[in-house]
Amino acid sequence: MRIDIITLLPELLRSPFDESIIKRARAKGIAEINIINLRDFSTDKHKSVDDYPFGGGPGMVMMIEPVYNCITHLSSQRHYDEVIYTSPDGISFNQHIANDLSMKKNIIILAGHYKGIDQRIRDHLVTMEISIGDYVLSGGELPAAVITDAIVRLLPGAISDSGSALSDSFQDNLLAPPVYTRPADFRGWKVPDILIGGNTPEIEKWRFEQSVRNTEKKRPDLLLGKS
Ligand code: SAM
Repeated sequence: MRIDIITLLPELLRSPFDESIIKRARAKGIAEINIINLRDFSTDKHKSVDDYPFGGGPGMVMMIEPVYNCITHLSSQRHYDEVIYTSPDGISFNQHIANDLSMKKNIIILAGHYKGIDQRIRDHLVTMEISIGDYVLSGGELPAAVITDAIVRLLPGAISDSGSALSDSFQDNLLAPPVYTRPADFRGWKVPDILIGGNTPEIEKWRFEQSVRNTEKKRPDLLLGKS
C-alpha cells in the first residue's frame, strides 16, 4: 500500500514513520509512505502556500494552486483510491475506517494548516475528510501520522503475529481483555489462575468474557452498535 502525505512540515513527520512496526513495514515493502513538501509545488518565487482570507478576518488560508499542482502531479502517475483531508469537522476516525482504508492501494493525506484550506480544494479535490477528535490541533501532521499508523499496522505482514491486530480493541466492537506477563505473582498481586493453566479453549473463553465485561463497563455504546 502507498500513502502519500502532503505537508508544510515534512520534518515533523519523519520520526513517527521511522520507528517500530511502521519502520519495519516500510523496510519490508509492505507500506510505502512518502512525505511530500507542499512548498515544492508553489509557483510563487517566495514559495508561498497561504494567503489572507477573502472577506477579511483572522488567520491565513492554504491556497488552492499549490495543492492542485501537487495532487494533479501525483494523480498523473497513479490512481488514488482516496484523497483525505484531515479536519476537525471531518468524520470521526475509528477502527472501522482504518480497516476500510487498509484495503486501499494508494491514498493521499493532506495535512492542513492555518485557518484551514481553501474550500474549493475540499469541494473538488478531496474525497474524504477525517477528524481524529473533537479538539483543534495546530496542523494536520499529527492526525496524518495517527491515521497512517492505524492503517499500516493492519496490513498483512506488518505485525509478525498476524492475529494480534485483529484481537485489539474495537475489532468486533469489543475492547481488548486484560493482558499479563511474568512474574505470575508480584508482591501478592497475582495473575488470574486461568491464564497459567495452559487450557487454550478456556483461556479464549475467559478472554472473550473479559472483553465483553470491559466493554460493558467502559464503552457500552460499542455493544449497542452506536459507535
Ligand atoms: N479553523 C479550523 C477549524 O476551526 O475547524 C481549524 C484549523 S487547525 C488550526 C489547522 C489544521 O489542523 C486543519 O486544517 C486540519 O488539517 C488540522 N487539524 C486540527 N485539528 C484536527 C483534528 N481534530 N482532526 C484532524 N485534523 C485536525
